Amino acid sequence: MISASDKKQITGQLFVVSGPSGSGKSTLCRAVVGGDDVYLSVSATTRPRGKEEVDGLDYFFVTEEEFRRKIEAGELLEYARIFEHYYGTPMESVLHHLHAGRNVILEIDVQGAVQVFRRYPQAVGILVLPPDDQALRERLLRRGRDDEASINKRLAQAQTEIEQAQKEKHYRHIIVNDDLEQAVAELRRLVAV
Ligand code: 5GP
Repeated sequence: MISASDKKQITGQLFVVSGPSGSGKSTLCRAVVGGDDVYLSVSATTRPRGKEEVDGLDYFFVTEEEFRRKIEAGELLEYARIFEHYYGTPMESVLHHLHAGRNVILEIDVQGAVQVFRRYPQAVGILVLPPDDQALRERLLRRGRDDEASINKRLAQAQTEIEQAQKEKHYRHIIVNDDLEQAVAELRRLVAV
C-alpha cells in the first residue's frame, strides 16, 4: 500500500501510459526517458522473453511461482493477467524514483491502470491510440512477435481496451500516434520535469 507518509514525501509525478498493443506506446515511452529526470518502470512478467528482449531491461522475466510470491508479499503496485500471462509493477522502485523527485512512467494496460488510479489518484493517465485499425495490424505484423491468431486476439483486445480507457476519467490526455516524431514531442511535453 502507498502509505500517507509515502504520499507526503513524493515529489515526482506518476504517469500511466496505456494503449492497445501495436499502438507504439513502448517506442514512445523509450524515446522520452533518455535523461535522468524521468524513470520508465520495468515490469515483472511471466510471459516468455522475446528474441530481442533483455531481462531486467525490458521486463523482469519470472516464473508463475515467483510472481505469485510477489503478489502475496505485497511487492506489486498493481498487476493483471493479460493473454494468459501475469504482468505487474514492482512498487519499490517506483516509490524510490518518485521520492528522488523523478517523474515515473508506468506503461501498463487499463486493468492495471485502474488499480493505480484507485491507490494513487494523483496519477495522470495518457492514452496512446493508433491512427486506425489497419495501422495497428501492420505494426503487429512488422514486430514479428505474434502469429496470425495472436494478432487477431490482440486486435479484438485493443477495441475493448480503448473503450474501457475512454470511460476512465484519469486518462486526461490522448496521443494519436500517427507521426512518430510529433507523438514523441507530445509525450515529452507531458512528462518533462
Ligand atoms: P507485451 O506482452 O506486448 O510486452 O505487453 C502486453 C500488455 O501488457 C501491454 O498492453 C502492456 O502495456 C501491458 N503491461 C506491461 N507491463 C505491465 C504491468 O506491469 N502491468 C500491467 N497491468 N500491464 C502491463
